[in-house]
Amino acid sequence: MIDSEDRLYLEQAQLFASVSLESVGHLLGNCQQRNLERGEHLLEPGAPNSHLYLILEGELRVYPDDRSLPERAVFGPGDCVGEMSLLDSPPAPALVLAAKDTRLVAVPHEVLWAMVDCSHGVARNLLAIMSGRMRNANLALINSQSRSLEFEQAASVDALTGLHNRRWLLEAYPRAIARCDRDSQPACLLIADIDHFKRFNDRFGHLTGDVVLRRVSRQLADGLRVQDLIARHGGEEFLILLPQSSPIQSLQIAERLRELVAANCTLVTEDVVEAVTVSCGVAEMEPGETLTELTARADAALKRAKDNGRDRVELALREGR
Ligand code: GH3
Ligand code: MG
Ligand code: MG
Repeated sequence: MIDSEDRLYLEQAQLFASVSLESVGHLLGNCQQRNLERGEHLLEPGAPNSHLYLILEGELRVYPDDRSLPERAVFGPGDCVGEMSLLDSPPAPALVLAAKDTRLVAVPHEVLWAMVDCSHGVARNLLAIMSGRMRNANLALINSQSRSLEFEQAASVDALTGLHNRRWLLEAYPRAIARCDRDSQPACLLIADIDHFKRFNDRFGHLTGDVVLRRVSRQLADGLRVQDLIARHGGEEFLILLPQSSPIQSLQIAERLRELVAANCTLVTEDVVEAVTVSCGVAEMEPGETLTELTARADAALKRAKDNGRDRVELALREGR
């Protein structure tokens, strides 16, 4: 039962803003008053709830057990909690506990609906409370999603060049080759390595070396088709997966990339003009081959390109040849 002192508190409640308590007074008689000691739990995560709780005195805190809600919310006199369970939603994913000794009015759902039926003011206030709550939950959801996207992005993107890293390619590789297998299409891996890159660092400094790395990255990435996957392998090496590509097509692509770098990456300073070139090794994927095995064969072809004078492309030899 609600006594007259509590009525004074209830008049301050958000749910009853601009509402004459007389209009719902007969329904308040069907609500229970509850006292919680500090630390006591009102709602457990996952437990069903069939009440809206109006806080008369004290403080409640909401601790969500997932990251789709604000990390913590504090509610005081005049606030309500538990109203979202009115919607046909799964049990609240939150712990609600009393942060101080707290007095509440527990309004059963059916009583709340009856209040909505007989008072436009209550209906309007409830709508405002719920839409505010949903907006906060959505904002928190967007924030947590963008936080995890940022995290995923940081883990798979190379900060210097903006290209993906090898870890990302390792994850993408099975899907890319499964598609080739399904369509009975060949696939090749290309490794591109900047020639004598150490000399750039030694002569012009590490920062200029970084500029060259970014420029080469851009040329390589821009020279690819949409289905091709490029990653920085570490240092001045790049891995490029060429799905739906025969060795002949892949050699043509490698040759085009080599020419693009030679034509567009020359380092020009006040007193030096220094050509930048890449050497490439190409290997055709064999059935069941892992990215590491395929990389090792493309690497052997790259080594031959270096041995044969650099600024050139070599194809991995098949075993036994
Ligand atoms: P080769 O033609 O045989 O490939 O010779 P190279 O000098 O390119 O090869 P080497 O492996 O001897 O040297 C690679 C150099 O790349 C050494 C390392 O300092 C430099 N390097 C690796 N990562 C970075 C980077 O992020 N920025 C800069 N500026 N240099 C880097
Ligand atoms: Mg290298
Ligand atoms: Mg090199």
